[in-house]
Amino acid sequence: MSKGNIYVISGPSGVGKGTVVREVVDSSDTIALSVSATTRKPREGEIDKVHYFFLSEEEFEKIADEDGFLEHAVYCGNHYGTPKQAVLDKVAEGYDVILEIEVQGGVQIMEKLPEAKGIFILPPSYKVLEKRLRGRKSEPDDVVKKRLETAREEIKQSYLYDYFVVNAELELAVEKVLEIIRNNRED
Ligand code: ADP
Ligand code: 5GP
Repeated sequence: MSKGNIYVISGPSGVGKGTVVREVVDSSDTIALSVSATTRKPREGEIDKVHYFFLSEEEFEKIADEDGFLEHAVYCGNHYGTPKQAVLDKVAEGYDVILEIEVQGGVQIMEKLPEAKGIFILPPSYKVLEKRLRGRKSEPDDVVKKRLETAREEIKQSYLYDYFVVNAELELAVEKVLEIIRNNRED
């Protein structure tokens, strides 16, 4: 099998990245999701090594110092990073690998690996974004506020990405992402 491609998928918190990406990965045997490391505490239902590698600050720093991340960034007070070797191995095996990461990390990847493609997921409106983020009920109000402020800055950086997908109707957004990945396979 030929080498796969790397896709950076970014978008503001609550836009539905996780939901879209889960459906995209579930609908294909050749698309894999990179599992990130973070110092954020697990949310209810999140499983270590499945949703994230949940690490202490010290553990995270050690991997960063050993150059074990393809990129890493601080987002709303917590560290997040993409384990390097796991991603490179999957790509070598022929998988298209999705990195669902925030913008600072996304830009690092696109600078480091120019062949990586960036997909930015946009909400239909800012109001809808706020509704989804609050509706998820996973963060306290001060964290929601911080994430909504960060969202405005992130959307300003969206021009650095190759593709834009508006997540209005879930199934349409999933199909759009799958189409982007399929079209790059055929090139
Ligand atoms: P993110 O990973 O971008 O932070 P999530 O995937 O957790 O966002 O989605 C945030 C909330 O919005 C969740 O409650 C999810 O069920 C909901 N959601 C995602 N996509 C849609 C959509 N197209 N229409 C309506 N609600 C959506
Ligand atoms: P959450 O705390 O909601 O799971 O994630 C917060 C933000 O961090 C989201 O925008 C998510 O895409 C991003 N993120 C998750 N993993 C990584 C990673 O490995 N690197 C970077 N830079 N961002 C990440």
